[in-house]
Amino acid sequence: MNISILGSTGSIGTQALKVVDDLAGQKEIKVMAITGNSNTLLLEEQARQYKPQVAVVADQKKYTDLKTRLADTSVTVLCGEEGLCRAATLDNVQMVLSSIVGFAGLVPTMKAIEAGKDIALANKETLVTAGALFTDAVKKHKIRLLPVDSEHSAIFQSMHGGSRAELKKILLTASGGPFFGKTTAELKNITKEQALKHPNWSMGAKITVDSATLMNKGLEIIEAKWLFDVDFDDIEVVVHRESIIHSMVEFTDKSIIAQLSLPSMKHPIQYAFTYPQRLPSPDKSVSFSDIATMTFYKPDEETFRCLALAKKAGKMGGIMPTVLNAANEVAVAAFLRDEMGFLDIAEFVEKTMNSYKNKSNPTLEDIIEVDKEIRQ
Ligand code: NAD
Ligand code: MG
Repeated sequence: MNISILGSTGSIGTQALKVVDDLAGQKEIKVMAITGNSNTLLLEEQARQYKPQVAVVADQKKYTDLKTRLADTSVTVLCGEEGLCRAATLDNVQMVLSSIVGFAGLVPTMKAIEAGKDIALANKETLVTAGALFTDAVKKHKIRLLPVDSEHSAIFQSMHGGSRAELKKILLTASGGPFFGKTTAELKNITKEQALKHPNWSMGAKITVDSATLMNKGLEIIEAKWLFDVDFDDIEVVVHRESIIHSMVEFTDKSIIAQLSLPSMKHPIQYAFTYPQRLPSPDKSVSFSDIATMTFYKPDEETFRCLALAKKAGKMGGIMPTVLNAANEVAVAAFLRDEMGFLDIAEFVEKTMNSYKNKSNPTLEDIIEVDKEIRQ
């Protein structure tokens, strides 16, 4: 199988390359394209190791740097959104791993679908912001959409336990993040350093902050709605502190099927790469006697308002999830620059949502326009 990795320099991208290494000898995966935003040093290293056809740096100012670094190789160096779209649509590629963070992944991912590539989807923001267009394109171009987000991979795997008509609801698990159990007063002076320390997962900065505000779980509800075509009322969030159960589904007979493994993104990445097969993984097995207890709680939506806001935007539909997502990306970036407080993230998202009149059936142009407007 030939793949393109959009966002190869990120947390998901680098773990995906490890999975490619792990699978050598069992399933040959040739990496045809790698992309990063600006880290030319890592792109060079990856290009030398994996010898892709194309390497793309999104930041145009870094183009000459990457071109110089790879001058002695046969790798084609490209830049900007045009370069990302080329990487997403290479002729001899069967699967594209969409692992750019945020809205920047939308257009390249849509291009990959239109070019008939199967999608391994890590970038949940694309499905949140353009769910209807995205899923319509998946149906129209008859491609396979494989979830990489650990919860959605777990749901996908658990769904094999019954038929679609027998499904009652999805139980989406959440770790609760680093501030589980805290009150609003205690959250007031949270610093970026505190928010970036996740108890169970090591991830990129944006999703780590989203996990601390519980916006991540809100985005995942919308992601699940589109991936599995379920009503919002049939998705229940369950806080499970140990992150061993990655999500569950309940069937009409009240049987619950879950997927469990140690918290490692390599598991869902590998499953997306090998589906419908399962292949040996070098990762450790779950040891129940080591874990000893598993705990479950209701999420606190009053303190972690981002979760409630995401549910609201999801139920409203139309352009509102785009508004929610863009406002959140802007707020999280400001928080990471120490220009906004932790609680201001929800405040900003709510204010932005209130300032927009909803619009149903937005086009891709509408979505791009509204996203741009909010960033400005
Ligand atoms: P990250 O910040 O570690 O990496 C993001 C990648 O996108 C990098 O390659 C970066 O160079 C690239 N990028 C950033 N801005 C860009 C831009 N404007 N244009 C082009 N490329 C750009 O993020 P991550 O943690 O790997 O997350 C990637 C996606 O996967 C996110 O949507 C996230 O929600 C999702 N996800 C991540 C994890 C995880 O464990 N990290 C788990 C589930 C889902
Ligand atoms: Mg997740």
